[in-house]
Amino acid sequence: MSVRPDPAAFNVSLEARCAQLERQLKRERQIRLEAESIAERGLREAYLTNQRFELLCNVTNAANQSVDPLDTLRYAIAEICAVNDWAFANVLLRKGHGGDARLEGCGLWHARHPDQMFAFIDLSSRLIAWPCAIAPGRLLIHPAAVWTRDIQASGDQGRSGLARQCNLRASISVPVMLGQDLFAVMEFFTQSAVEPDPQQLEVLTQIGTQIGRVFRRTANEKLLIENALRDPLTQLPNRAQFENRLEAIFQRNTGAASLRTSLIYIDLDGFKLVNDALGHQAGDRLLVEMAGRLRQVADAYATTPYPGAPESVLIARIGGDEFIILVEGEQHWEDAADIAKDIHSILRPSFVIDRHEARCAASIGIAHDDGSYTVAADLMRDADVAMYDAKSRGPGRTVTFDLGMREKAVSRLKLEAELRTAVQLDEFRLHYQPIIDIGSGKIVGFEALLRWQRGDSLVYPSEFLQVAEDSGLMNVLGAWVLREAATVAAGWRRQCADLPPFYMSINVAPCQFLQPNFVDQVRDIIAATNVDPRVLVIELTENAAITNREHTRVVLEALRAMGIRLSLDDFGTGYSSFTHLQTLPFDNIKIDRSFVTDGQSNVSWDIIDAMLGIARALNIGVIAEGIETHSQLDRLAAVGCTFGQGFLYDKAITSQVALEKLCATAGYATPNPVSPFSS
Ligand code: C2E
Ligand code: CA
Ligand code: CA
Repeated sequence: MSVRPDPAAFNVSLEARCAQLERQLKRERQIRLEAESIAERGLREAYLTNQRFELLCNVTNAANQSVDPLDTLRYAIAEICAVNDWAFANVLLRKGHGGDARLEGCGLWHARHPDQMFAFIDLSSRLIAWPCAIAPGRLLIHPAAVWTRDIQASGDQGRSGLARQCNLRASISVPVMLGQDLFAVMEFFTQSAVEPDPQQLEVLTQIGTQIGRVFRRTANEKLLIENALRDPLTQLPNRAQFENRLEAIFQRNTGAASLRTSLIYIDLDGFKLVNDALGHQAGDRLLVEMAGRLRQVADAYATTPYPGAPESVLIARIGGDEFIILVEGEQHWEDAADIAKDIHSILRPSFVIDRHEARCAASIGIAHDDGSYTVAADLMRDADVAMYDAKSRGPGRTVTFDLGMREKAVSRLKLEAELRTAVQLDEFRLHYQPIIDIGSGKIVGFEALLRWQRGDSLVYPSEFLQVAEDSGLMNVLGAWVLREAATVAAGWRRQCADLPPFYMSINVAPCQFLQPNFVDQVRDIIAATNVDPRVLVIELTENAAITNREHTRVVLEALRAMGIRLSLDDFGTGYSSFTHLQTLPFDNIKIDRSFVTDGQSNVSWDIIDAMLGIARALNIGVIAEGIETHSQLDRLAAVGCTFGQGFLYDKAITSQVALEKLCATAGYATPNPVSPFSS
């Protein structure tokens, strides 16, 4: 039997079915909506994350390329505001240290509509925030990003009222820092209520760190540059900074500039002595003290306003004990002269270093730019030339450069070059001045004297010796003299075996004598020339002997141990002669020509008398120099002077003539043929 469906029942179930379907549909719609909403939220979050990541990348890139942290900050606040749709951003820089630490507005801000918030911008860019409980001052105590939900109610006394007027709501303060160092704070303000977002804060904090890197990098670079331009000992500008400045002045001053420059070149007198006597550390301390006094003078001119005061004064240390002051002004001539005067007087009081009293004067050279200089280095060179001139006149002098000096300097340079060539071309000769036994009139020895055979003319030491010493050529030249004189003496003896005893006296320059290997040089020369060392006499001037007394004593004793004899040259012209005679092992003194020449004066004869008395007491030989007249000779003989040399007997002669005279003295025939070693 078939069962027919009950239509009523069918209807009910249809309705129920529809309702059921409808419920199902609703549920599914709900689920779909929920699913859609979830998907949308995820997407949005992903979008946001992406956007923030991009922001961080952009700022990091900008930071990597930046040379100025403020530029990076300007870029960052604009980007951050744009990405987040924030209304205003402000930058505060960290200033001061310790109890003085604060944040200061610096005029760096970004606003979406500046015209709507003038007052707030103005106040923010002038803001000074001290450490306190609320942002931004709070970041000085606790440097971490802070979210303030409602700035209007925040207690930011100064700005909450204005914030209300501009409808600003939340604020976010972000530290710009690296490690423990806070450099700045970025503040952001929104016009809608924004809930704190930890992820957002994390990104902003990272941006702050990236900009902190730029601050650190530029600070380090600045320090490096500063150090490269500063003398580490005295903290004064160094040569590089001085040259930059002078160069900049020259580039700016073209033609008829009203401001002109003077250079004051300062070289300390006697600094080397302090350094040698008290050691380098004491020397350094003296330099620091000197620098302090010099700076005091320079600062007085740089900072005191008075009519016609110089526009600028820069002092720099440009070498060991060399300083320079650059004066720029309308009255630079007078300024420079006044500064030099003040320097001499400020250096007058002694310095106390390690309980030692030290004095140090300065030689000063001044050069003025009168508009004729086109190159900065020329002005510098002329100040240097003037300083050398001052130095040659004794300590504590000032000399202003003039053209004559330049000519002198140029000819000095020329002479130096010619001397070098002359050494290479073997143009030097020795001539020999006989030394006579006054009693018998016989030759007892010779003094070897240096000559320069320059073409046809003979150049005397007075014309080139100083330049040779200053240019460092003297050591080479002196070594040649020693070898040549030893060779000649040994040759005479070889040539004429029964020559009477004679000695060969050789002048040694101070710088030559002070060489650490001087004794070795002499020993080598004796070995190479085979000369009997007892024939050799070394002449040393008093000033050379006292420069380093202990060294002198050691060297003199070593020479003596070889059999060489020693004469103290130019006796009476140096310092405290008699004291040194007792402590240094000299065999002879040579009474300086000036005492003998000045024969009219009784004072000179009294001095000669005293010298002879001391020499006798110390059992030292005496040789009088520069005997030109019979009356001088008679007087010397009368006071008991035993040996002498001078034009009355002979000038310095060639080795051949000298040998002939030596033989004649002894009554021998002149050896023949002509000696191969004559000059
Ligand atoms: P000095 O050592 O005092 O030498 C004596 C100088 O006086 C020599 O001058 C000599 O020619 C000169 N003279 C000698 N007798 C008389 C005289 O009666 N009247 C006058 N007016 N002068 C006289 P010279 O050769 O021109 O040398 C000058 C100085 O140059 C020397 O003075 C010495 O200090 C230095 N010198 C010369 N040769 C050498 C050398 O080979 N090495 C070093 N280091 N210095 C040297
Ligand atoms: Ca001499
Ligand atoms: Ca002499």
